[in-house]
Amino acid sequence: MSVQTPAGYNSQRNLTHVIPSLAASLGAPSHNPLDLPQASSAILLMVDGLGLEQLEHYAAHAPYFRRVMKQQTAAQTEMSSVYPSTTAAALSSLGTALSPGQHGLVGYDVYDPDRDVVINQLGGWDERTDPETWQTAPTVFQQLNEQRQAGVHGIRPVTISLSAFEDSALTRASLQGPSFVGADDLGKRFARAAQAAQQPGNLIYLYVNELDKAGHQHGPGSTTWLEVLEEIDSHARRMIRKLPASTLVAVTGDHGMIEVKPEHRIDFSHHEELIEHVAHTAGEPRMVQLHFDSAATEEQRQATLEAWGHRFGDQAWVVTRQQAIEAGWFGSVTSRVQQRIGDLLIAGFEPVALYDGRRAAPHSFKMVGHHGAPTSAEVRVPWLVVQTP
Ligand SMILES: [Zn+2]
Repeated sequence: MSVQTPAGYNSQRNLTHVIPSLAASLGAPSHNPLDLPQASSAILLMVDGLGLEQLEHYAAHAPYFRRVMKQQTAAQTEMSSVYPSTTAAALSSLGTALSPGQHGLVGYDVYDPDRDVVINQLGGWDERTDPETWQTAPTVFQQLNEQRQAGVHGIRPVTISLSAFEDSALTRASLQGPSFVGADDLGKRFARAAQAAQQPGNLIYLYVNELDKAGHQHGPGSTTWLEVLEEIDSHARRMIRKLPASTLVAVTGDHGMIEVKPEHRIDFSHHEELIEHVAHTAGEPRMVQLHFDSAATEEQRQATLEAWGHRFGDQAWVVTRQQAIEAGWFGSVTSRVQQRIGDLLIAGFEPVALYDGRRAAPHSFKMVGHHGAPTSAEVRVPWLVVQTP
């Protein structure tokens, strides 16, 4: 059986191309795959959880973004996240310009074959796993710092984010290099970005997590989610008015989101045949990754695969690691990362969320918004570009 490349994923136009293009627009001798114009400073507004389909659908609640979208072609507005469509994988691809198969943050929970444990990539790190050895490639920001110190250009990366993320495991693994400005209030973050943009050469990464939070809790399109979208849109519009000439502002998301109804949030661990010979479950409810017991025979693995196909084959792709890699789901995959990917992957194409109830916290079943699968609602994100005159 062969597996199709995920819908909506674009290998020519995705998050790995964003920082190199922004750097090129500020004068770095890097390629500029997104064809950004020359600029004096640049702000990347990263709205966690903002998918293109959700923004198009609720554009009436984002009048400023809608106006920018109308000035662009559909092809210009299209950007793609990576697979899995989840923050750890996507922001690592943004920071390193590498595919998940290369940087190794291949999901929300990821299996570490060296230690035989599953590590939560957004904070479940313990002292025995060092984020800096888990992800060893230099970030694009670090490369820019080195080039600046060598006199190649004057680009200074700056991160503006919630203070809690200054030293988070994800920041240490994949977003190292920029000077860090912490501001917990949403409006303050936009104000700090406008200040930082006054300095020519600044490449500002402005991170917003409020929309993703509202989406998980209440669902994309919920009243709370729409209020947050309206707030972000209006902060962005006001920020742009304060920017000096020739500042570039790009807006994108790390993944989209879908709503999963309570009856489609399923604890698969109740079904013995689905967890037989499985030593570890990882990934996330939209993209489950199963790691077999090393003693499991080929027949036993095949039987578990068939059991998943039997129960969930009409709602989810059920594929082996090999099939997923061959279909390009993780981009190019290094041998170091290969074993971190599940032996068996279950990714919903219908709006289902599959939990391992033995590991999942009870409140996680209350989560309304989900992402992680390679559907276009989850993988396609917006790309809006504005330059001040
Ligand atoms: Zn999320």
